[in-house]
Amino acid sequence: MDFEAYFQGELGALRDEGRYRVFADLERHRGGFPRATRHLEDGSTQDVTVWCSNDYLGMGQNPKVVDAMKAAIDQCGAGAGGTRNISGTNHSHVLLERELADLHGKQSALLFTSGYVSNWAALGTLASKLPGCIVFSDAGNHASMIEGIRHSRAEKVIWKHNNVRDLAARLAAADPRAPKIVAFESVYSMDGDIAPIREIVEVAERFGAMTYLDEVHAVGLYGPRGGGIAEREGLMDRITVIEGTLGKAIGVMGGYIAASEALCDFVRSFASGFIFTTALPPALAGGAVASIRHLKVSNEERLMQRDRVARLRSLLDRRGIPYMPNDSHIVPVMVGNAAKCKWISDLLLDHHGIYVQPINYPTVPRTTERLRITPTPFHSDADIDHLVGALHQLWSRCALSRAVA
Ligand code: PMP
Repeated sequence: MDFEAYFQGELGALRDEGRYRVFADLERHRGGFPRATRHLEDGSTQDVTVWCSNDYLGMGQNPKVVDAMKAAIDQCGAGAGGTRNISGTNHSHVLLERELADLHGKQSALLFTSGYVSNWAALGTLASKLPGCIVFSDAGNHASMIEGIRHSRAEKVIWKHNNVRDLAARLAAADPRAPKIVAFESVYSMDGDIAPIREIVEVAERFGAMTYLDEVHAVGLYGPRGGGIAEREGLMDRITVIEGTLGKAIGVMGGYIAASEALCDFVRSFASGFIFTTALPPALAGGAVASIRHLKVSNEERLMQRDRVARLRSLLDRRGIPYMPNDSHIVPVMVGNAAKCKWISDLLLDHHGIYVQPINYPTVPRTTERLRITPTPFHSDADIDHLVGALHQLWSRCALSRAVA
Protein backbone atom coordinates (compact mmCIF):
# COMPACT_ATOMS: atom_id res chain seq x y z
CA MET A 1 0.00 0.00 0.00
CA ASP A 2 1.12 3.54 -0.74
CA PHE A 3 0.64 4.89 2.80
CA GLU A 4 1.54 8.48 1.95
CA ALA A 5 -0.93 8.61 -0.94
CA TYR A 6 -3.63 7.17 1.31
CA PHE A 7 -3.02 9.76 4.04
CA GLN A 8 -2.98 12.62 1.52
CA GLY A 9 -6.17 11.36 -0.12
CA GLU A 10 -8.06 11.23 3.16
CA LEU A 11 -6.80 14.67 4.20
CA GLY A 12 -7.74 16.05 0.77
CA ALA A 13 -11.31 14.80 1.25
CA LEU A 14 -11.49 16.61 4.59
CA ARG A 15 -10.19 19.80 2.95
CA ASP A 16 -12.72 19.56 0.11
CA GLU A 17 -15.52 19.44 2.66
CA GLY A 18 -14.12 22.40 4.61
CA ARG A 19 -13.61 20.12 7.62
CA TYR A 20 -9.81 20.12 7.74
CA ARG A 21 -8.76 21.45 11.13
CA VAL A 22 -6.16 24.20 11.26
CA PHE A 23 -4.61 25.27 14.56
CA ALA A 24 -4.31 28.92 15.42
CA ASP A 25 -0.74 29.24 16.71
CA LEU A 26 -1.35 31.41 19.78
CA GLU A 27 0.70 32.80 22.60
CA ARG A 28 -1.37 33.67 25.61
CA HIS A 29 -0.30 36.71 27.61
CA ARG A 30 0.05 36.64 31.34
CA GLY A 31 -2.53 39.07 32.66
CA GLY A 32 -3.85 39.85 29.19
CA PHE A 33 -6.58 37.24 28.83
CA PRO A 34 -8.50 36.99 26.49
CA ARG A 35 -5.88 38.71 24.36
CA ALA A 36 -3.22 36.61 22.60
CA THR A 37 -0.52 36.90 19.98
CA ARG A 38 -1.05 34.79 16.88
CA HIS A 39 2.08 33.54 15.12
CA LEU A 40 1.76 33.32 11.35
CA GLU A 41 3.72 31.05 9.03
CA ASP A 42 5.65 33.95 7.47
CA GLY A 43 7.07 34.82 10.91
CA SER A 44 4.81 37.82 11.48
CA THR A 45 2.44 38.15 14.42
CA GLN A 46 -1.09 39.44 14.97
CA ASP A 47 -2.92 40.54 18.13
CA VAL A 48 -6.15 38.62 18.55
CA THR A 49 -9.02 38.36 21.00
CA VAL A 50 -9.90 34.77 21.85
CA TRP A 51 -13.63 34.01 21.82
CA CYS A 52 -13.60 30.23 21.93
CA SER A 53 -11.55 29.39 24.99
CA ASN A 54 -12.66 26.78 27.48
CA ASP A 55 -10.70 28.66 30.13
CA TYR A 56 -14.21 29.87 30.83
CA LEU A 57 -13.42 32.05 33.84
CA GLY A 58 -9.85 33.02 33.00
CA MET A 59 -8.57 30.97 35.94
CA GLY A 60 -5.60 29.85 33.82
CA GLN A 61 -4.32 33.41 34.24
CA ASN A 62 -5.48 33.97 37.80
CA PRO A 63 -2.55 35.16 39.96
CA LYS A 64 -3.45 32.77 42.80
CA VAL A 65 -3.33 29.81 40.41
CA VAL A 66 -0.17 30.88 38.64
CA ASP A 67 1.61 31.64 41.93
CA ALA A 68 0.58 28.27 43.38
CA MET A 69 2.00 26.52 40.33
CA LYS A 70 5.27 28.45 40.56
CA ALA A 71 5.56 27.67 44.27
CA ALA A 72 4.91 23.97 43.59
CA ILE A 73 7.58 23.91 40.89
CA ASP A 74 10.05 25.54 43.26
CA GLN A 75 9.25 23.01 45.92
CA CYS A 76 8.73 19.78 43.95
CA GLY A 77 10.30 20.30 40.52
CA ALA A 78 8.71 19.68 37.16
CA GLY A 79 7.33 16.17 36.90
CA ALA A 80 5.62 13.70 39.24
CA GLY A 81 8.31 11.08 38.73
CA GLY A 82 6.13 8.04 38.25
CA THR A 83 2.72 6.49 38.18
CA ARG A 84 0.52 7.09 41.19
CA ASN A 85 1.41 3.63 42.54
CA ILE A 86 5.12 3.79 41.90
CA SER A 87 6.57 6.94 43.46
CA GLY A 88 4.35 9.40 41.54
CA THR A 89 1.88 10.31 44.30
CA ASN A 90 2.83 13.75 45.54
CA HIS A 91 1.20 15.47 48.48
CA SER A 92 -0.54 17.95 46.14
CA HIS A 93 -2.39 15.03 44.46
CA VAL A 94 -3.69 13.94 47.83
CA LEU A 95 -4.76 17.48 48.74
CA LEU A 96 -6.43 17.93 45.36
CA GLU A 97 -8.40 14.69 45.66
CA ARG A 98 -9.64 15.82 49.10
CA GLU A 99 -10.59 19.20 47.67
CA LEU A 100 -12.54 17.57 44.82
CA ALA A 101 -14.33 15.14 47.11
CA ASP A 102 -15.39 18.09 49.25
CA LEU A 103 -16.45 20.12 46.20
CA HIS A 104 -18.88 17.40 45.13
CA GLY A 105 -19.93 16.26 48.61
CA LYS A 106 -18.47 12.79 48.06
CA GLN A 107 -16.33 10.52 50.21
CA SER A 108 -13.51 10.31 47.66
CA ALA A 109 -12.12 11.56 44.39
CA LEU A 110 -9.63 10.07 41.95
CA LEU A 111 -7.42 12.03 39.55
CA PHE A 112 -6.64 11.20 35.92
CA THR A 113 -4.46 12.93 33.37
CA SER A 114 -7.44 14.50 31.59
CA GLY A 115 -11.21 14.56 31.54
CA TYR A 116 -11.08 12.36 28.46
CA VAL A 117 -9.03 9.73 30.26
CA SER A 118 -11.24 9.87 33.35
CA ASN A 119 -14.35 9.07 31.31
CA TRP A 120 -12.63 6.46 29.20
CA ALA A 121 -10.99 4.74 32.16
CA ALA A 122 -13.67 5.06 34.86
CA LEU A 123 -16.73 4.34 32.75
CA GLY A 124 -14.86 1.65 30.82
CA THR A 125 -13.76 -0.06 34.02
CA LEU A 126 -17.15 0.09 35.75
CA ALA A 127 -18.96 -1.18 32.66
CA SER A 128 -16.53 -4.01 31.99
CA LYS A 129 -16.16 -5.19 35.60
CA LEU A 130 -19.82 -5.15 36.68
CA PRO A 131 -21.01 -8.57 35.48
CA GLY A 132 -23.58 -8.31 32.67
CA CYS A 133 -23.65 -4.51 32.95
CA ILE A 134 -25.82 -2.50 30.55
CA VAL A 135 -24.86 1.14 29.92
CA PHE A 136 -27.63 3.58 29.06
CA SER A 137 -25.87 6.38 27.22
CA ASP A 138 -27.41 9.73 26.24
CA ALA A 139 -27.25 10.16 22.44
CA GLY A 140 -25.33 13.42 22.89
CA ASN A 141 -22.57 12.01 25.08
CA HIS A 142 -18.97 13.04 24.54
CA ALA A 143 -16.53 10.87 22.58
CA SER A 144 -14.62 9.99 25.77
CA MET A 145 -17.67 8.31 27.29
CA ILE A 146 -18.54 6.58 24.02
CA GLU A 147 -14.98 5.24 23.74
CA GLY A 148 -15.00 4.09 27.37
CA ILE A 149 -18.23 2.18 26.87
CA ARG A 150 -17.00 0.69 23.60
CA HIS A 151 -13.76 -0.37 25.24
CA SER A 152 -15.70 -2.11 28.06
CA ARG A 153 -17.56 -4.32 25.55
CA ALA A 154 -20.63 -3.97 27.79
CA GLU A 155 -24.06 -3.82 26.19
CA LYS A 156 -24.91 -0.24 25.27
CA VAL A 157 -28.38 1.26 24.95
CA ILE A 158 -28.52 4.77 23.51
CA TRP A 159 -31.42 6.92 24.71
CA LYS A 160 -32.70 10.02 22.98
CA HIS A 161 -30.85 13.13 24.03
CA ASN A 162 -32.22 14.56 27.32
CA ASN A 163 -35.40 12.49 26.84
CA VAL A 164 -36.36 11.03 30.22
CA ARG A 165 -39.37 9.13 28.84
CA ASP A 166 -37.18 7.35 26.32
CA LEU A 167 -34.67 6.52 29.05
CA ALA A 168 -37.44 5.15 31.29
CA ALA A 169 -38.86 3.00 28.48
CA ARG A 170 -35.45 1.55 27.68
CA LEU A 171 -34.68 0.85 31.33
CA ALA A 172 -38.06 -0.85 31.68
CA ALA A 173 -37.35 -3.06 28.67
CA ALA A 174 -33.98 -4.27 30.01
CA ASP A 175 -33.29 -7.34 32.14
CA PRO A 176 -34.24 -6.26 35.69
CA ARG A 177 -31.38 -8.30 37.16
CA ALA A 178 -28.62 -6.67 35.08
CA PRO A 179 -26.50 -3.96 36.75
CA LYS A 180 -27.16 -0.70 34.93
CA ILE A 181 -25.31 2.59 34.49
CA VAL A 182 -27.05 5.72 33.20
CA ALA A 183 -24.34 7.91 31.64
CA PHE A 184 -25.02 11.53 30.74
CA GLU A 185 -23.71 15.10 30.91
CA SER A 186 -25.03 18.16 32.71
CA VAL A 187 -24.10 20.93 30.24
CA TYR A 188 -23.69 19.69 26.67
CA SER A 189 -20.78 21.51 25.17
CA MET A 190 -21.89 22.19 21.62
CA ASP A 191 -25.55 23.19 22.11
CA GLY A 192 -25.06 24.42 25.67
CA ASP A 193 -28.29 22.72 26.75
CA ILE A 194 -28.67 21.36 30.28
CA ALA A 195 -29.90 17.88 31.18
CA PRO A 196 -33.02 17.40 33.34
CA ILE A 197 -30.84 15.85 36.03
CA ARG A 198 -33.52 15.49 38.69
CA GLU A 199 -35.84 13.52 36.41
CA ILE A 200 -32.99 11.37 35.14
CA VAL A 201 -31.89 10.57 38.69
CA GLU A 202 -35.45 9.69 39.69
CA VAL A 203 -35.86 7.30 36.76
CA ALA A 204 -32.45 5.73 37.38
CA GLU A 205 -33.27 5.23 41.06
CA ARG A 206 -36.58 3.61 40.16
CA PHE A 207 -34.69 0.99 38.13
CA GLY A 208 -31.82 0.61 40.58
CA ALA A 209 -29.33 2.03 38.06
CA MET A 210 -26.11 3.80 38.93
CA THR A 211 -25.78 7.38 37.58
CA TYR A 212 -22.58 8.62 35.91
CA LEU A 213 -22.64 12.38 35.31
CA ASP A 214 -20.09 14.30 33.24
CA GLU A 215 -19.94 17.85 34.66
CA VAL A 216 -16.95 18.89 32.55
CA HIS A 217 -18.67 22.05 31.22
CA ALA A 218 -20.26 22.91 34.56
CA VAL A 219 -17.60 22.47 37.23
CA GLY A 220 -16.49 25.85 38.56
CA LEU A 221 -19.34 27.56 36.72
CA TYR A 222 -22.56 26.52 38.42
CA GLY A 223 -23.62 25.96 41.99
CA PRO A 224 -22.82 28.21 44.97
CA ARG A 225 -19.32 26.70 45.31
CA GLY A 226 -18.78 25.81 41.65
CA GLY A 227 -19.70 22.17 42.21
CA GLY A 228 -21.67 22.08 38.95
CA ILE A 229 -25.32 21.64 38.02
CA ALA A 230 -25.76 18.78 40.50
CA GLU A 231 -24.70 21.13 43.29
CA ARG A 232 -27.01 23.87 42.02
CA GLU A 233 -29.95 21.43 41.97
CA GLY A 234 -29.09 19.89 45.35
CA LEU A 235 -28.57 16.45 43.78
CA MET A 236 -24.92 15.63 44.39
CA ASP A 237 -25.68 12.93 46.95
CA ARG A 238 -28.06 11.16 44.58
CA ILE A 239 -25.57 10.86 41.73
CA THR A 240 -23.27 7.88 41.96
CA VAL A 241 -20.29 9.26 40.02
CA ILE A 242 -19.56 12.88 39.17
CA GLU A 243 -16.84 13.29 36.58
CA GLY A 244 -15.07 16.55 35.82
CA THR A 245 -12.09 18.25 34.27
CA LEU A 246 -9.48 20.60 35.67
CA GLY A 247 -8.78 21.87 32.15
CA LYS A 248 -11.72 24.18 31.55
CA ALA A 249 -13.19 26.51 34.23
CA ILE A 250 -10.53 25.40 36.73
CA GLY A 251 -7.94 26.67 34.22
CA VAL A 252 -5.27 23.97 34.49
CA MET A 253 -5.35 20.37 33.22
CA GLY A 254 -6.41 16.94 34.43
CA GLY A 255 -9.61 15.01 35.07
CA TYR A 256 -11.27 13.22 37.94
CA ILE A 257 -14.19 11.28 39.30
CA ALA A 258 -15.82 11.92 42.68
CA ALA A 259 -17.84 9.11 44.27
CA SER A 260 -17.98 6.77 47.25
CA GLU A 261 -14.76 5.53 48.79
CA ALA A 262 -15.37 1.98 47.57
CA LEU A 263 -16.15 3.04 44.00
CA CYS A 264 -13.05 5.26 43.72
CA ASP A 265 -10.93 2.54 45.27
CA PHE A 266 -12.37 0.03 42.80
CA VAL A 267 -11.54 2.22 39.79
CA ARG A 268 -8.11 3.02 41.28
CA SER A 269 -7.42 -0.68 41.58
CA PHE A 270 -8.70 -1.89 38.20
CA ALA A 271 -8.52 0.96 35.65
CA SER A 272 -5.50 0.58 33.37
CA GLY A 273 -5.90 4.24 32.33
CA PHE A 274 -5.21 5.16 35.94
CA ILE A 275 -2.63 2.54 36.90
CA PHE A 276 -0.25 2.52 33.95
CA THR A 277 0.39 6.20 33.34
CA THR A 278 2.49 8.93 34.92
CA ALA A 279 0.75 11.08 37.54
CA LEU A 280 -0.02 14.73 36.83
CA PRO A 281 2.84 17.13 37.53
CA PRO A 282 2.55 18.31 41.16
CA ALA A 283 2.43 21.92 39.97
CA LEU A 284 -0.76 21.24 38.03
CA ALA A 285 -2.31 19.72 41.11
CA GLY A 286 -1.17 22.70 43.21
CA GLY A 287 -2.64 25.14 40.67
CA ALA A 288 -5.92 23.23 40.61
CA VAL A 289 -6.18 23.29 44.42
CA ALA A 290 -5.71 27.08 44.41
CA SER A 291 -8.28 27.50 41.64
CA ILE A 292 -10.93 25.29 43.26
CA ARG A 293 -10.43 26.93 46.65
CA HIS A 294 -10.89 30.34 45.05
CA LEU A 295 -14.01 29.32 43.11
CA LYS A 296 -15.57 27.74 46.19
CA VAL A 297 -15.79 31.14 47.85
CA SER A 298 -15.84 33.64 44.98
CA ASN A 299 -18.94 34.23 42.86
CA GLU A 300 -17.41 37.22 41.12
CA GLU A 301 -16.17 35.37 38.05
CA ARG A 302 -19.40 33.41 37.63
CA LEU A 303 -21.58 36.53 37.88
CA MET A 304 -19.40 38.54 35.54
CA GLN A 305 -19.39 35.75 32.99
CA ARG A 306 -23.21 35.57 33.06
CA ASP A 307 -23.36 39.31 32.54
CA ARG A 308 -21.08 39.04 29.50
CA VAL A 309 -23.14 36.20 28.04
CA ALA A 310 -26.36 38.19 28.47
CA ARG A 311 -24.86 41.23 26.79
CA LEU A 312 -23.60 39.20 23.84
CA ARG A 313 -27.00 37.56 23.36
CA SER A 314 -28.86 40.86 23.46
CA LEU A 315 -26.55 42.40 20.84
CA LEU A 316 -26.89 39.34 18.61
CA ASP A 317 -30.67 39.66 18.94
CA ARG A 318 -30.51 43.29 17.95
CA ARG A 319 -28.52 42.44 14.81
CA GLY A 320 -30.66 39.40 13.97
CA ILE A 321 -27.76 36.98 14.14
CA PRO A 322 -29.11 33.51 14.94
CA TYR A 323 -27.82 31.61 17.94
CA MET A 324 -29.08 28.53 19.69
CA PRO A 325 -30.94 29.53 22.86
CA ASN A 326 -29.96 27.72 26.06
CA ASP A 327 -29.57 28.30 29.80
CA SER A 328 -25.79 28.00 29.93
CA HIS A 329 -22.71 30.09 29.24
CA ILE A 330 -22.23 28.73 25.71
CA VAL A 331 -23.42 30.80 22.74
CA PRO A 332 -23.62 28.69 19.57
CA VAL A 333 -23.95 31.08 16.60
CA MET A 334 -25.50 28.99 13.86
CA VAL A 335 -24.06 29.08 10.33
CA GLY A 336 -25.38 25.78 8.96
CA ASN A 337 -22.72 25.09 6.34
CA ALA A 338 -19.15 23.85 6.82
CA ALA A 339 -17.50 25.93 4.09
CA LYS A 340 -19.29 29.14 5.12
CA CYS A 341 -18.50 28.49 8.75
CA LYS A 342 -14.83 28.21 7.96
CA TRP A 343 -14.97 31.25 5.68
CA ILE A 344 -16.51 33.40 8.42
CA SER A 345 -14.06 32.13 11.00
CA ASP A 346 -11.08 32.84 8.70
CA LEU A 347 -12.25 36.38 7.95
CA LEU A 348 -12.98 37.10 11.61
CA LEU A 349 -9.43 36.12 12.41
CA ASP A 350 -7.57 37.61 9.46
CA HIS A 351 -9.51 40.89 9.12
CA HIS A 352 -10.89 41.55 12.59
CA GLY A 353 -8.43 39.90 15.01
CA ILE A 354 -11.27 37.79 16.40
CA TYR A 355 -10.54 34.13 16.99
CA VAL A 356 -13.49 31.71 16.99
CA GLN A 357 -12.80 28.22 15.69
CA PRO A 358 -15.46 26.82 13.32
CA ILE A 359 -17.27 23.75 14.69
CA ASN A 360 -18.07 21.27 11.96
CA TYR A 361 -19.09 17.63 11.47
CA PRO A 362 -18.44 15.18 13.15
CA THR A 363 -18.31 17.34 16.30
CA VAL A 364 -21.82 18.55 15.40
CA PRO A 365 -24.31 17.16 12.81
CA ARG A 366 -24.00 18.44 9.24
CA THR A 367 -26.11 21.55 8.51
CA THR A 368 -25.69 22.67 12.15
CA GLU A 369 -22.15 23.99 11.69
CA ARG A 370 -21.55 26.85 14.04
CA LEU A 371 -19.28 29.29 15.80
CA ARG A 372 -19.22 28.26 19.44
CA ILE A 373 -18.67 31.47 21.37
CA THR A 374 -17.69 31.42 25.03
CA PRO A 375 -17.72 34.85 26.68
CA THR A 376 -15.51 35.14 29.76
CA PRO A 377 -15.53 37.63 32.65
CA PHE A 378 -12.68 39.41 30.90
CA HIS A 379 -14.37 40.29 27.60
CA SER A 380 -15.14 44.02 27.72
CA ASP A 381 -18.19 45.83 26.33
CA ALA A 382 -15.95 47.04 23.50
CA ASP A 383 -14.86 43.45 22.74
CA ILE A 384 -18.48 42.35 22.50
CA ASP A 385 -19.43 45.31 20.29
CA HIS A 386 -16.48 44.56 18.04
CA LEU A 387 -17.41 40.87 17.74
CA VAL A 388 -21.07 41.51 16.96
CA GLY A 389 -20.21 44.30 14.49
CA ALA A 390 -17.85 41.97 12.61
CA LEU A 391 -20.38 39.12 12.60
CA HIS A 392 -23.05 41.47 11.28
CA GLN A 393 -20.79 42.55 8.41
CA LEU A 394 -19.90 38.98 7.48
CA TRP A 395 -23.47 37.80 7.77
CA SER A 396 -24.51 40.35 5.16
CA ARG A 397 -21.56 39.53 2.88
CA CYS A 398 -22.21 35.84 3.13
CA ALA A 399 -25.94 36.36 2.46
CA LEU A 400 -26.66 34.00 5.32
CA SER A 401 -30.20 33.43 6.32
CA ARG A 402 -31.06 35.02 9.63
CA ALA A 403 -33.17 32.05 10.52
CA VAL A 404 -30.81 29.08 10.26
CA ALA A 405 -31.12 28.37 13.98
N1 PMP B 1 -16.31 15.43 28.61
C1 PMP B 1 -16.83 16.40 27.84
C2 PMP B 1 -18.31 16.57 27.81
C3 PMP B 1 -15.99 17.24 27.08
O1 PMP B 1 -16.51 18.18 26.30
C4 PMP B 1 -14.59 17.05 27.15
C5 PMP B 1 -13.58 17.90 26.38
N2 PMP B 1 -14.02 18.81 25.52
C6 PMP B 1 -14.10 16.04 27.97
C7 PMP B 1 -14.97 15.24 28.69
C8 PMP B 1 -12.63 15.80 28.08
O2 PMP B 1 -12.07 16.69 28.99
P1 PMP B 1 -10.52 17.07 28.90
O3 PMP B 1 -10.43 18.20 27.91
O4 PMP B 1 -10.13 17.41 30.27
O5 PMP B 1 -9.81 15.85 28.39
